[in-house]
Amino acid sequence: MSLVVQKFGGSSVANIERIENVARKVIASREAGHDVVVVVSAMKGETDRLNELAYGAAQNTTPRPREHDLLLSTGETVTIALLTMVLERMGSPARCLTGAQVRILTDSAFSKARIQDIDAESIRGDLGAGRIVVVAGFQGVDENGSITTLGRGGSDTTAVALAAALEADECQIYTDVDGVYTTDPRVVPTARRLEQVTFEEMLELASLGSKVLQIRAVEFAGKYQVPLRVLSSFQDGPGTLITTEGQNMQQGSMEEPLIAGIAFTRDEAKLTMIGVPDTPGVATQILGPVADANIEVDMIVQNISNDGLTDFTFTVNKTEYDRALDILSQQAKVLGAREVFGDSSIGKLSLVGVGMRSHAGVASRMFKALAAEGINIQMISTSEIKISVVTDEKYLELGTRALHKAFELDDRSGKTVSVEGQSD
Ligand code: ADP
Ligand code: ASP
Ligand code: MG
Repeated sequence: MSLVVQKFGGSSVANIERIENVARKVIASREAGHDVVVVVSAMKGETDRLNELAYGAAQNTTPRPREHDLLLSTGETVTIALLTMVLERMGSPARCLTGAQVRILTDSAFSKARIQDIDAESIRGDLGAGRIVVVAGFQGVDENGSITTLGRGGSDTTAVALAAALEADECQIYTDVDGVYTTDPRVVPTARRLEQVTFEEMLELASLGSKVLQIRAVEFAGKYQVPLRVLSSFQDGPGTLITTEGQNMQQGSMEEPLIAGIAFTRDEAKLTMIGVPDTPGVATQILGPVADANIEVDMIVQNISNDGLTDFTFTVNKTEYDRALDILSQQAKVLGAREVFGDSSIGKLSLVGVGMRSHAGVASRMFKALAAEGINIQMISTSEIKISVVTDEKYLELGTRALHKAFELDDRSGKTVSVEGQSD
């Protein structure tokens, strides 16, 4: 008998009818002879609703982190109770557990807690007694007994962490699309489902904006070698398997595909300091105070110097934009810089593929395709398996479509993917 962990996201449990659909899938796996641990998210839109309530209560202040997490965690608690009731009604013995009841121990970093340890014993006991175990995603408990949450999309991470702790045979992430696509199929309807994608590529895609899997879930799966698959809750199919490199050879081909996919994000903002003296230590004087304020910096560009002066540009998460701009304005006075300005309406577009390692010319093909659409590139950064560019936010979707075409990623079968409803 094998053990599977199955995770169902918000749109898969959006109402009782859909919860019944989930229950039927879970029971089918059970009847096929598997032990099943189910992880569920809050019902679609519920986490956003709870979040709005928190901000309403806090008015012009930030919601208190401990209470904010406790509040947000309740969305998942509702779903585990409902699914368990439905499973029992359908004749399948089941037991639900919150993160704290399992004892998913996390650190105390509210809203972005990290899992430190999982006590798998009570789950094993229930499985041994023939029950389906239903666990609340996204939540844990710290050593003081406070409820924590794992960051938006965190139920994916709960599922993978449980699969690792239970040494499950597979972790299946059921969602509203039938796998990982070459890009977000809501933006490019001709996007193609990938049979397989490597952990390395998936990690880049997730960190560069593809929200189909939370990045920490991919990290966990890679680290603990958890076989991970993304599938649809609404239609049958093989989905997408996340693999280690080397397993990823396409059938009949000895070569890895050049580009696995395209990710994009609107989550960043750009800050620039103009006319800073080009002397040793200037980068640390600019970025040191930003780091001290716990603001993460992503891309960094320094121009060549002109008359001993240079310009310095970097990006941060949009939520940190105002704070970063304040710090930069302060530092500009210290450094005697000419001017500081920022732009929060930018987008970042990234090509990802392990095949890039052995192929030259990817960047020039990318820049040519963007130029043909009249899209100006503001910043560029590269690593071994990705190239990212910053553009004006309004060109993000046009740029994604142009690159999808230029790199011949379109589905050639002529079929377009149907995605369920709108995302949360
Ligand atoms: P869930 O609520 O099930 O966790 P999410 O909304 O978090 O679902 O993730 C699924 C969504 O991710 C899809 O509806 C799709 O719009 C989006 N997405 C972004 N990039 C991709 C991609 N490369 N492949 C598939 N889906 C993607
Ligand atoms: N409910 C949480 C969210 O909306 C966690 C999750 O769905 O994975 O982000
Ligand atoms: Mg998700």
